[in-house]
Amino acid sequence: MYHEKIFDSLTGLFDRNSFLEHTRRTLQNGKKGLALIWFNLDNFKMFNNRFGFEKGDELLKEIAMILGSIFSRNNSARFSDDNFVVLTDWSAAELKIDTVQEYLYSLHENVTLRLRAGIYFPSDYEDVRLACDRAKIACDSIRKNHSVSSCMFHDAMSKELALQQHILDNLDSAVNNNYIKILYQPIVNLSDGKICETEALARWNDPELGLISPGEFIPTLEQYREIHRLDIYAIKNVCRDFYERKEKGLPFLPVSINLSRLDFELCDIFHEIEIAVEINNIPREMLRIEITESVNEENLTVLNLGIEKFRAMGYEVWMDDFGSGYSSLNVLKDYSFDTIKFDMKFLHGFDIDKSEKAKYILSSNLSMARLMGVKALAEGVETSEQLEYLKSIGFDKAQGYYFGKPMNLDEIFKSVN
Ligand code: C2E
Ligand code: MG
Ligand code: MG
Repeated sequence: MYHEKIFDSLTGLFDRNSFLEHTRRTLQNGKKGLALIWFNLDNFKMFNNRFGFEKGDELLKEIAMILGSIFSRNNSARFSDDNFVVLTDWSAAELKIDTVQEYLYSLHENVTLRLRAGIYFPSDYEDVRLACDRAKIACDSIRKNHSVSSCMFHDAMSKELALQQHILDNLDSAVNNNYIKILYQPIVNLSDGKICETEALARWNDPELGLISPGEFIPTLEQYREIHRLDIYAIKNVCRDFYERKEKGLPFLPVSINLSRLDFELCDIFHEIEIAVEINNIPREMLRIEITESVNEENLTVLNLGIEKFRAMGYEVWMDDFGSGYSSLNVLKDYSFDTIKFDMKFLHGFDIDKSEKAKYILSSNLSMARLMGVKALAEGVETSEQLEYLKSIGFDKAQGYYFGKPMNLDEIFKSVN
């Protein structure tokens, strides 16, 4: 039967379905030694923002041209946005990936462009869609690892995928059955050494898998755009904990809650917090909103409006993990924060680093915060030496295992008294 090939209108390469069909036939015809390679550009959205969509389209066409010339157009496809997939002989796969990178680099010497590649070797009996997914998983796995530009799929990645699936399938039941608990970590005022507030941190105690760390479930929920459901749940729990203490006539402290920047897109997070605050009759100055610095430029306006709305209503807004990403300084310029939380990596190697470099970086960033009239909190304090130094240069607050790990609210107040 004649099968009409459908092409991607921008690049003229195969579209997803035609490519899948082509790959299926090639595998069924018994061709051996094949590799699927999934390509994705780092920060393509940022490129569009910076140079405009026309230049973005041109870049995609260039990539199509490069892939077509190196792998042949008959074996290359654009699946969506900046996602390209090719079918090639496995023996030359890595060499060809290097050639692609060099070619792209030679066309854009002034911009840093990294085209990441994930490689998977399909067998003739397997579902071609799953095979492509595996190449994509390999490609995604090096998103944050800038020292390599290609990666082969391996089985541990399947385990990671299974965990992700479990998290997504069980979020509802974890929320409904309270498998997710909120713990509180003390924050200490360095002028008097007393606990002045707390940070609410989520813990998922799964009946099947045991404790799942936020480092695992938060990125998954963000990736699949479900994070707002966890955050709304966390907010409700914090407000209820607060209300219960108030009802019992027990003392309470301000609490900071972590929001994902995606919450501002996925729901009306301001409204959700307002409802919880109203129902439990919580003074707004008792809540701090923590947002990580890794905000990307595309949703700058939405986020900025959100931040201003919170501040106008009397909530403090804090920048979390300052210094952990690439855009810290820009983020400081573009948004208004009440407090900056310095990422714990500032303190890494602090006690060993005889060159004093870590101290210079910390104290100069602190001066900058001072100039901007923003309070400074250091995260991840673990030793008395670190604490003394932070005090000596004038940090306002600190948080870390030295003062206490995340714990139940009652335990916090035991150490307050
Ligand atoms: P974060 O907001 O920067 O929270 C601080 C993390 O550092 C916590 O990890 C805390 O347990 C850990 N930590 C505190 N002091 C020390 C120390 O002295 N040494 C070391 N090595 N670690 C310390 P945790 O609870 O695993 O949370 C990880 C991240 O997950 C948080 O980083 C936050 O970004 C995110 N997260 C946690 N709960 C929520 C939540 O309910 N919603 C959202 N959106 N994110 C959350
Ligand atoms: Mg935080
Ligand atoms: Mg932090």
